[in-house]
Amino acid sequence: MTRSRGTGRTMTSHSDALIIGGGFYGCVIALALSRHLRHVTLVEREPELLTRASLVNQARVHTGYHYPRNLQTAASSGENQLLFAEIFKDCVDDSFTAIYAIARGLSKVTPSYFERFCRQLRLPLKPAADDVRALFAPRLISAVYECREFAFDALALRHFLRDRLAHAGIELCLGHEVAEVEARETGPIRIRLGAGGTERTANRVYNTTYANLGRIGGIDCQGVRLRHQLTEVCLVTPPAPLQGLGVTVMDGPFFSIMPFPAAHCHSFTHVRYTPHVTWAEDGAPAPTPDAVRARAHESRFPWMLADGARYLPILEEIRYKKSLFDIKTTLTDSISDDGRPIAYHRDARNPNLVSILGGKIDNIFDVLNVIESDMVREAV
Ligand SMILES: Cc1cc2nc3c(=O)[nH]c(=O)nc-3n(C[C@H](O)[C@H](O)[C@H](O)COP(=O)(O)OP(=O)(O)OC[C@H]3O[C@@H](n4cnc5c(N)ncnc54)[C@H](O)[C@@H]3O)c2cc1C
Repeated sequence: MTRSRGTGRTMTSHSDALIIGGGFYGCVIALALSRHLRHVTLVEREPELLTRASLVNQARVHTGYHYPRNLQTAASSGENQLLFAEIFKDCVDDSFTAIYAIARGLSKVTPSYFERFCRQLRLPLKPAADDVRALFAPRLISAVYECREFAFDALALRHFLRDRLAHAGIELCLGHEVAEVEARETGPIRIRLGAGGTERTANRVYNTTYANLGRIGGIDCQGVRLRHQLTEVCLVTPPAPLQGLGVTVMDGPFFSIMPFPAAHCHSFTHVRYTPHVTWAEDGAPAPTPDAVRARAHESRFPWMLADGARYLPILEEIRYKKSLFDIKTTLTDSISDDGRPIAYHRDARNPNLVSILGGKIDNIFDVLNVIESDMVREAV
């Protein structure tokens, strides 16, 4: 027996389901499972929920505009975004105007392709107002559109989810790292917390550790090929004309500046400069995400600004606050078409040990569909 730091409740040693990772995915999956199972446990190694990728990101609830080269990802974003905005309505900022601009050179899409794509998927699109269009350099930008997109507030999500987890009676173990998992073909799965620490058992285990997905001892994720990037998200105060806007220049080596509700400011990211280090976990020796994250990294804000201001000159007036660094993890297979499918990997020895990578925040609904199907299959 040990004491859970998150709730002060005593941890019993067996759970119907144990979720590793208290990011957005782990929290929502725990809630979904608690509707079917009695004793659900969530283990997070940090002292608080949603501190990693679920906090350090661009906060975009994707509508689909971002994925003109992957119709499937774009279409599912459109549906998932509506659900997300409905369920997490108090954690969503829909007060700004989303602007998508297309560059004349280097862009992987043309205005006519983008317009056709939006028509096909029924994504709202109209030419931007003249005063917004006038902010861009006409020599480098060929089209500017007004779109419909939201941003999420990760801190509001944290509070909301904490309340819901407590309400659902989920055992929350903050500040506990899962060191090792042992799954046999039959019988409960064994989970070891901390180096040489307490042992627990569970009938099901869900690994939702994102950048650490392939790094938990005893969990074999070999079918899931991961690519990691150490990323820098700059937090900035925009000048007045950009304050009610979220601007994305797409699709290529460009930038985004959009509301970041958790810090009441805007995030500023650049496709070329935001990733500092990129590496794949493909069987060859690779650094651990923790080791790369722990290194000191110099901000590339000046480079982002110098390039971005060529397209949007008013960027010269933004004020830099600070940078957030964290690891972004995607599936290697999705690099060429920029898709964001989910990975739902059942362990070869025991299908009740599952590793999940969501890719983007609204993909949670695709993951929940699979979990729900598993539950129904077992019940009938
Ligand atoms: C720079 C960047 C920009 C992004 N922009 C967007 C965007 O605009 N829109 C969008 O939808 N998505 C975006 N994403 C992706 C999105 O952030 C992720 O898909 C999502 O947050 C993943 O949630 P998660 O719960 O799986 O991961 P996380 O939030 O990283 O949670 C994983 C948790 O596991 C914990 N953990 C790790 N190892 C262990 C262990 N051994 N024991 C216990 N706990 C452990 C970690 O501490 C962490 O809290 C972005 C990501 C990045 C990095």
